[in-house]
Amino acid sequence: MSAREVVMIRFGEIFLKGDNRHLFERRLVDNCERAIAHVEGAKIERQRGRLFVWPGAAGTAPLERSLKRVFGIASLSPARVVERKLTAIEQTAIEVARLQTEQGKRSFKVESRRADKQFVPASPEISRQVGAAIVGALGLPVDVHTPDFTVGVEIGLEHAMVFSAIVAGPGGLPVGSTGKVELLLSGGIDSPVAGWLMLKRGCELSATYFHSFPYTGDKTKEKVITLASKLAGWQLQPLTLTIVPLTEAQKALRGLDEEGRLAVVLYRRMMVRIAEVIARERGARALVTGEALAQVASQTLENMSVIDEVAELPILRPCLAHDKVETIAMARRIDTYETSILPYDDCCSLFVPDHPETRAHLERVQRLESRLDIAALVSDCVSRREMITVPAK
Ligand code: ATP
Ligand code: MG
Repeated sequence: MSAREVVMIRFGEIFLKGDNRHLFERRLVDNCERAIAHVEGAKIERQRGRLFVWPGAAGTAPLERSLKRVFGIASLSPARVVERKLTAIEQTAIEVARLQTEQGKRSFKVESRRADKQFVPASPEISRQVGAAIVGALGLPVDVHTPDFTVGVEIGLEHAMVFSAIVAGPGGLPVGSTGKVELLLSGGIDSPVAGWLMLKRGCELSATYFHSFPYTGDKTKEKVITLASKLAGWQLQPLTLTIVPLTEAQKALRGLDEEGRLAVVLYRRMMVRIAEVIARERGARALVTGEALAQVASQTLENMSVIDEVAELPILRPCLAHDKVETIAMARRIDTYETSILPYDDCCSLFVPDHPETRAHLERVQRLESRLDIAALVSDCVSRREMITVPAK
């Protein structure tokens, strides 16, 4: 028996994409290549509805860890590679099953698939024969409904693969396959999750952070850079972060409404105007925020529509329907939570009263803004931006 191993990759929804399918596949291959670039000797092979990643000297474990972050992968299996002969497949299947019994598992079933439909016998018969070999060698019970483990057999064009583990991938679509978006990235919990959700749907991200120095300090900026680097890790390539000084604009805006109840809406409209300029420069087709409906007083439908009024690009809010606990669970999973909860001074909590407006009126907001030269404030902020390329962490 050959001791060779390979990582078998199953795609997700790419299958549904009709004519675009090969573009999505090409992108997935590129992204897998990026993800495993640090693994010496690893190679990717594309074959009929599957990708195979051949490991270098370090084996499949480092590949598995890296590929688990590639959107578009539905699942993967480290598999043993054998000759396309039933006797060889049976021997390997017995070894694979024996390893499972060492973990206390007993009942099993065999599932087979032929990429090469010319191969004889057909899949059900392969399963039956391989199953019988395992029963004969190890005396394990077959259970086709709720087995303790499944032995998978795939007949490829050149080799056969035998495996038992199926590791879930992140699903979604390959990053870069659905367009660019500009994320409004704060240091909070929600916006990194919003960015991750867009990456999952195949978008490429760049991000804008509004810095209110000295009210928000360098520590906050570093925290946002760390969050950007974590998103870059999921994106599999560096992320461009634009840092915009907002303090001057905030000072101008806060004087507009005496009680300050509209401050958050006024700041957010300013952020959206500025982010839109940056988004257009970068070729992004939408803005993304971490807002969730009614999570805080400023995130009501009324306020969102007043905020949306200044944007021509769509504002996407992928966390809109999340409960906070759902967003927190996701933040933990994508490894941004611990960074997000570091003590943080939020620029929007500056100069903001205890009871912000929950139903901003568009005409009133427009009237207040008309006292300022908004276009000049926007271009002043844009001209003082700093752009950094944040590598993956
Ligand atoms: P988050 O946890 O993402 O900060 P939040 O629930 O604290 O969200 P807000 O602080 O009101 O809500 O912000 C709502 C959204 O506005 C954020 O998710 C983010 O997209 C954007 N935003 C807020 N502050 C900033 C900032 N300083 N820079 C960039 N975007 C911001
Ligand atoms: Mg916040």
